[in-house]
Amino acid sequence: MSVRELVVLGTASQVPTRHRNHNGYLLRWDGEGILFDPGEGTQRQMLRAGVAAHDLNRICVTHFHGDHSLGLAGVIQRINLDKVPHPVTAHYPRSGQRFFDRLRYATAYRETVGITEAPVDADGDLAATRSYTLDARKLSHPVESYGYRLVEPDGRRMLPERLAAHGITGPDVGRIQRAGVLGDVTLDEVSEVRRGQRFAFVMDTRLCDGVHALAKGCDLLVIESTFLDEDAGLAEEHGHLTAGQAAAVARDAGVRHLVLTHFSQRYSEPEEFERQARAAGYEGELTVARDLLRVPVPKRR
Ligand SMILES: [Zn+2]
Repeated sequence: MSVRELVVLGTASQVPTRHRNHNGYLLRWDGEGILFDPGEGTQRQMLRAGVAAHDLNRICVTHFHGDHSLGLAGVIQRINLDKVPHPVTAHYPRSGQRFFDRLRYATAYRETVGITEAPVDADGDLAATRSYTLDARKLSHPVESYGYRLVEPDGRRMLPERLAAHGITGPDVGRIQRAGVLGDVTLDEVSEVRRGQRFAFVMDTRLCDGVHALAKGCDLLVIESTFLDEDAGLAEEHGHLTAGQAAAVARDAGVRHLVLTHFSQRYSEPEEFERQARAAGYEGELTVARDLLRVPVPKRR
């Protein structure tokens, strides 16, 4: 059984606290590991969470503020130190190429692994594998910021009663799956669409079209809620979301499991984020993230 889960490495915005490291999130999706927004201290948080450099196949950076990217230097050097045997691809806003260059080559080290640079400069698809397509959407923040989404291709679920009704058994099941037809029976008659799972990562933005597009129909949504609702003015000014705004997006998008994170150090009561998210009418599963938490992608319906 392939593993699909989020490993939360850090949950603080702007400055870390005694309880929260700067951002960092690993998504395990089948055999791959995708690291989002490695802030300062991510390498050590990986160790604490049981994540190795070998687990990383892809790195996605939403934008070049330090809390989302200062960890790149350490993580990239660790990938090289450990001589990770597979390619690693990095996505980040192209407008921040100079920051990526500096972080990648922040100090001297022996480069043993080819990191493929795949910067983002427009909405659209970035990669496609057998188990997902990865796409990006522009967000609204003082520096250019992109959110990311993984969408598993739809599959088909075979229906045993229908197969039995048509007398299809054994190797014939595989035949009709591959060919789409067997004799006068079509695949549609003995199966149904199995909707692909969706995950999105939305960091550092005010409300905008990109936020809604990324969240649409997600099984698991990780979204910033830097501020509580009473500080909505600050959120708008600095290009962030409040707990109520993030939850309303998730509500309208039909999100199944909402993970709030990227909290301002000004708040000490995580329960208040939960209370405001519920007050906004979000009724799905809800997690106010803390460091080192693991959140499974919800089971298929
Ligand atoms: Zn931030």
